[in-house]
Amino acid sequence: MKASLYFFAPFMICLVAVAAVTFLISVSVPASKPTPFENRKRLALASQEKNPTMSFCQRCGLTWADVEPHDTYYHTENYNYPPSTQESDQPKISSCTYGIFPLCEYCWSELTPEERLPYYRRVWELWHKYDPIKNDEEQWRQIEKAVLEGK
Ligand SMILES: [Zn+2]
Repeated sequence: MKASLYFFAPFMICLVAVAAVTFLISVSVPASKPTPFENRKRLALASQEKNPTMSFCQRCGLTWADVEPHDTYYHTENYNYPPSTQESDQPKISSCTYGIFPLCEYCWSELTPEERLPYYRRVWELWHKYDPIKNDEEQWRQIEKAVLEGK
């Protein structure tokens, strides 16, 4: 009996050591964890179904009910909007600050200013698809400037 204990003890110690090492590896190297962006993408459809009339982040797809938008303010000068309705009206010369928010705070922070630009362009194009009066290249230049300045 005593002899068999001495005989098996080294095997038992080895077995415990192997189990311990296996446990430590499994704890320190978890299975590839999805990034927050992947999590947001996965939740986007449910977010849009829950809030069908709400606009959403152009990158991850979460609606503004579920994620905070990043506001980018841009300044326009001599922007004739709303346009004059009568010929006698003088063009409205104004200097205003407007906001645009195509990305959520998370997506905005994950991209460089150059990478953000296409999302802003897409929203700007959507604006003048529904409102041709806003098809104003000067407005786009101001948005582009603000985005590239990191706003
Ligand atoms: Zn997003």
